[in-house]
Amino acid sequence: MVDNLSNKKFAEWLKVRYSSPSQFDHTISILSELKLNTICQEGLCPNRAECFSHGVATFMILGNKCTRNCHYCHVAPGKPVTIDKTEPERVAKAVQQLGLSYVVITSVNRDDLPDGGACMFVETVDKIRELNPKCAVELLIPDFKGNFESLRSIVQIQPEVLSHNIETVEEIFSKVRPQGNYLLSLQLIGKIKQVNLLQKTKSSLMLGLGEEEIQIEKTLRDLIHRGCDFLTLGQYLQPTEMHWPVKKYYTPNQFEKWRLIALGLGFKHVESGPLVRSSYRADKLQFHLTQKMNRSIQDNSTLPIFDNTLITIT
Ligand code: SF4
Repeated sequence: MVDNLSNKKFAEWLKVRYSSPSQFDHTISILSELKLNTICQEGLCPNRAECFSHGVATFMILGNKCTRNCHYCHVAPGKPVTIDKTEPERVAKAVQQLGLSYVVITSVNRDDLPDGGACMFVETVDKIRELNPKCAVELLIPDFKGNFESLRSIVQIQPEVLSHNIETVEEIFSKVRPQGNYLLSLQLIGKIKQVNLLQKTKSSLMLGLGEEEIQIEKTLRDLIHRGCDFLTLGQYLQPTEMHWPVKKYYTPNQFEKWRLIALGLGFKHVESGPLVRSSYRADKLQFHLTQKMNRSIQDNSTLPIFDNTLITIT
């Protein structure tokens, strides 16, 4: 497959920065020694040179083969790998060796597993906290096909931020994410606050897939209505010629316009720009986490009791 990122003539605002080659190599060597996957590499993120140069990476657990096939995503679809029980500890060691104070963990979709991989998220957070007690953890989770027990197990460990990306507007959602569902994703975000009102939530949209302005605004309202706290907005870039084409390039001024609109609608923090990705400079959210939840006080027994039925689309 051809990597379009190196072939296209991008505007100045889409050029990537590369600040510290030695730190970049250090990050790569930690990832390869510990045999870890990152969405930075598997997703061909345009910021990987910058982030790795700052010793930052977003870990992708549960293998590098996804059970879904979203048309914008570079992560390879295919037969999923066997669960590796040593992965949580290896992620925790990488966090320690990189000296991270804020880390984002995501995964491929694992629709082959009964819990969608939720227990591995839980184990990974446990191990990270064991080795890195001061590190804040953001989890970027899949929709678990609406499995509420999976979602609840994740909310109960109280990640500092819990993210689920809506990615695009309802009108083109099924075209670019054929195995996902817009309303299911919205419901999942809404359910998080029902389990724990204090849980900080986040979502992300890519612009340039073919959405209209009125549809963007409706999506932002839908997210706010479900209690979403934080938002990122970034330019979609076609990873290869096989992927969904870019329908529109937004300028930095247009991203700033949407940042202000989103703040006006009620988001507590918005990152918006051509190269912004869900986890780009995610550590800036630490500012909003000063009223950290006291994990020792709010144990699982204080959480509301829900039935364990699947989330349903209404
Ligand atoms: S923006 Fe996120 S996914 Fe991209 S390189 Fe940085 S940490 Fe990785």
